[in-house]
Amino acid sequence: MDKKIWLSSPHMGGAEMKYIQAAFDENWISPLGPNVNGLEQDLERFLDANVHVAALSSGTAALHLSLILLGIKAGDYVICQSLTFSASANPIIYMGAIPIFVDSEKDTWNLCPNAVEDAIKFGISKGKKPKAIIAVSLYGMPYKVDEIKEISERYEIPVIEDSAESLGSAYKNQKCGTFGDLSVLSFNGNKIITTSGGGALIVKNKEFKNKAVFLSTQAKDDAPHYEHTNIGYNYRMSNICAGIGRGQMEVLEKRIAKRRENHNIYKRIFKDVEHFTLHTEPDADYFSNHWLSVVCINPNGDINSDAIRLKFLEKNIETRPIWKPMHLQPVFKDTPYFGSGLSERLFENGLCLPSGSNLDANDWERIKDSFDMVFKS
Ligand SMILES: *Cc1c(COP(=O)(O)O)cnc(C)c1O
Repeated sequence: MDKKIWLSSPHMGGAEMKYIQAAFDENWISPLGPNVNGLEQDLERFLDANVHVAALSSGTAALHLSLILLGIKAGDYVICQSLTFSASANPIIYMGAIPIFVDSEKDTWNLCPNAVEDAIKFGISKGKKPKAIIAVSLYGMPYKVDEIKEISERYEIPVIEDSAESLGSAYKNQKCGTFGDLSVLSFNGNKIITTSGGGALIVKNKEFKNKAVFLSTQAKDDAPHYEHTNIGYNYRMSNICAGIGRGQMEVLEKRIAKRRENHNIYKRIFKDVEHFTLHTEPDADYFSNHWLSVVCINPNGDINSDAIRLKFLEKNIETRPIWKPMHLQPVFKDTPYFGSGLSERLFENGLCLPSGSNLDANDWERIKDSFDMVFKS
């Protein structure tokens, strides 16, 4: 059997061990230390905007903290994109708040502005204006930043930007991770760069960052003993993981270039192929890191996304259906939803393709051969 081709596997840059070794040498084996501060500075420099970064144990922790920082209370409504990974929505439940799921629009597959407004009006009609909008840049594609910002300002509802999949993406030359009132990154093993597990919260001022660090390190008040006037969380990033992150930051630009190159190879594969549509940037305002390349397949005879997934599995090539929308998940049944069903159709026909920055020429030959086989069948 040929070796497994993964959808997106970790791709080390080479310098990671140097930073980890430094942590060992100085005995900084804890959820704080020079690598944590260093990674935060690397990210602030990369994002190139007036932002402050707090490195945390996961993207999910960052989303949870952002809801806490916004003062979300039990029973509050929070709007969330339906087509996403469950980690975007779960923290709403941690807070005892109620998600309102919203459909995608066709250009970016992210929040549909009209459906967002419907969801806001629904909340207002129940006497509870939603307290936050969680906007995702799915698969690296920025959401409709200007439209969502306009709605957020008009109704005075803050945006939490879930950029877990879009580090390195940009909209109108501004980096993803800088658009939300609060923004979130993930460094899980499958993301464009990884710290094995980790995430970051991005905020606009130092005071918010200090608060995030305080809450993520068990909310210890300033006293010789442990004094607590707040409920704390153990959400800070470990100095070892941050060492991996520092090494990964050295190669981030290369990783983005490679994933975009992958996308161009798929563009060539599907050029002039009927029934296959690659999800691409709608216009020049959008710059996607193309974390994953995704193709939509119009079912035609025996060819459909699931048949292709199984064929590729036989060849030991991993593909995967796109995220199953949250409003279709058993755990979120009975949750309000606004939309016209686009995310459901995308779920039916979309297929995530191998997109790692470590795909080599031999992998590409196998992927191309497998598609040729499908096209000829
Ligand atoms: C990965 C991911 C998260 C969660 O990040 P973790 O670091 O795995 O907790 C949140 N939202 C989206 C869209 C993701 O893809």
